Amino acid sequence: MTQEHERSKVAVQCTVCSAIYTAWTANEDSFRLIGTDECQCGEDEFQLLS
Ligand SMILES: [Zn+2]
Repeated sequence: MTQEHERSKVAVQCTVCSAIYTAWTANEDSFRLIGTDECQCGEDEFQLLS
């Protein structure tokens, strides 16, 4: 198994349709959505919601 690095649960927003998802993040450039692989609109780029 891959060793899990420290990660944080964050809110991210789709860069296209502004939908908000919960994701794990290992760093500020990499998100992994929880429960889905991509946005409802098919986009897979998200920005950190702050
Ligand atoms: Zn979207």
